[in-house]
Amino acid sequence: MPRQDIRNIAIVAHVDHGKTSLVDQLLRQSGSLERGEEDGELIMDSDPLERERGITILAKNCAIDYTDPHGHRFHINIVDTPGHADFSGEVERVLKMADGVLLLVDASDGVMPQTRYVLSKALEVGLEPIVVINKMDRPSARPKEVIEQVFNLLVDLGAEEHAMDFPTIFTSAKEGWACEDPANLPAAGAGDIHPLFEAIIRHVPAPQFDASAPLQALVTSLDYNDYVGRIGIGRVFAGTLRRAEAVTVINRAGEHFDRRIAQVLRFEGLGRREVDAIEAGDLFAVVGLEHVDIGDTLADPDNPQPLATLSVDEPTLHMMFRANDGPFAGKDGQFVTSRHLRDRLLKELQSNVALRVEDRGDEFLVSGRGLLHLGILLENMRREGHELTIGKPEVILREQDGETLEPIERLVVDVAAEHLGAVMQMLGARRAEMLNMETRGSRTLAEFSIPARGLIGLRSRLLTATQGEAILHHRFWRYEAHRGLIGGRTTGVMVATGSGPVTAYAMGKLADRGVMFVRPGEEVYEGQIVGECNKDRDISVNVVRTKKLSNIHASTKEATVTLKATRAMMLEGALEYIESDELVELTPTAVRLRKRWLKENERKRNARRES
Ligand code: GDP
Repeated sequence: MPRQDIRNIAIVAHVDHGKTSLVDQLLRQSGSLERGEEDGELIMDSDPLERERGITILAKNCAIDYTDPHGHRFHINIVDTPGHADFSGEVERVLKMADGVLLLVDASDGVMPQTRYVLSKALEVGLEPIVVINKMDRPSARPKEVIEQVFNLLVDLGAEEHAMDFPTIFTSAKEGWACEDPANLPAAGAGDIHPLFEAIIRHVPAPQFDASAPLQALVTSLDYNDYVGRIGIGRVFAGTLRRAEAVTVINRAGEHFDRRIAQVLRFEGLGRREVDAIEAGDLFAVVGLEHVDIGDTLADPDNPQPLATLSVDEPTLHMMFRANDGPFAGKDGQFVTSRHLRDRLLKELQSNVALRVEDRGDEFLVSGRGLLHLGILLENMRREGHELTIGKPEVILREQDGETLEPIERLVVDVAAEHLGAVMQMLGARRAEMLNMETRGSRTLAEFSIPARGLIGLRSRLLTATQGEAILHHRFWRYEAHRGLIGGRTTGVMVATGSGPVTAYAMGKLADRGVMFVRPGEEVYEGQIVGECNKDRDISVNVVRTKKLSNIHASTKEATVTLKATRAMMLEGALEYIESDELVELTPTAVRLRKRWLKENERKRNARRES
């Protein structure tokens, strides 16, 4: 039977369309905020990295207690959805917690292609959308056209008949109101957000449950804190989850473990509150299950029945992390030793589901879902003050019956028809095979199978080839026979022979040898990679040499020439770029490329030994 006092919704929104502001208003106007939370930062606010990349990385939960005009009380759980392909497993897990979705769209910008994917997943699992058209206070709002767009999108995504009948609510999260009729918006200073509450209560189905059934709760995400350790988060599907009770944990492999729950927490406002019990239909957090993992069912020990399990994406890529041992080590970061690195990685393992770490003493082999997944970890680490070096990303191969297998992913590319040719060519060179293709209006949706190797460096190149409009999603599919060589870097690099500040003079001399990665005045060290050369082999260059200060004209002229040709290396670009004898050095302020062996004679000796 339905549990009337609970609603579970997922929010799907493009970054900047006003999700944070809207949830903020819902919290404030329901009175569910603690005193002190009311003024101050927007709640649920994403970390700076998410904002920068325009994606939500990990879903966050919050909950609102709302009392309607008739005095009925409701507990509304809100889960945020991630917007990126490396996290598609995460999307599916989050949607498991919800019974409906709010599709939030900016009234001027309209539907952005990035929201397509999450919305299509939501429709697949049968969640029906409430469409919220936000920023209605703006003069540029064009609600009619935006609704039309949403309608077309749902048609495109093959939504069922009744989903096409979506309820629409018009809001200004900024001014704090919602209304049902776009021709009758509240006057400035009037109106409130309650029509949105009403729409949620009316249109999102109450969760179904069987009160007499034995306990079944599914863990869909993990959290961690230093005091209590690992925290399992998920939804109770049947029975009641109680504090201090014994449960049988059934993991994804079907193994059973008898455990005792220490604490049960319920989502409230922006936080969680300890409670005695959580009943079916509601979301929970549990403390005290040490090895709890995604996809675990917490079941009644007298009648342990697993729920349909969740898929967790397999790690397909690994890279070697080690403490920074370059000449500039410790100049910039606060955490520079192997011990710092180990502690940080162990902590990350507690909640980062798809991460694996193999401790090899001085080095750590870190495996993850892809370049973006590991790139985000690295980016967070540098912001916290870590320094480290990272080796070339490699896909994780397997041996089976004497055959080498490699991870193959399914890749969906959504692209304007005129760019399809360029995309096909690029993917062909990366050993992708087309599985199917579909035209939807002016866009083409093509699905491929592609070696995970072929995905390295693909995103940035595809975006360049399509003027930034292609959208891609990929997901691990299976291991298959190795598809053969994919061409790597075709150029050599320029390696610095000395340490010191780069001179404009030296750069001018090298201008026709290739593209520089450094700028005049930047400090470099021997063995650092300072540029890419036109030839297919590495060259050693002196970028710190100076000329007698006699000819000022010449040196300023050279400076302008070379500056134009500089290429700045960002983290992911650098990781995609390096070869196996090279490293990326990452500090809070710098991304440097270097040779593993800094001295030329060491490199020669090593090359001989390897051949
Ligand atoms: P999020 O990225 O989806 O969480 O979006 P935010 O809530 O952070 O909002 C993005 C920007 O849009 C901020 O500058 C908000 O002040 C602004 N914004 C949000 N809602 C509205 C609205 O209803 N009207 C107007 N005019 N601006 C809004």
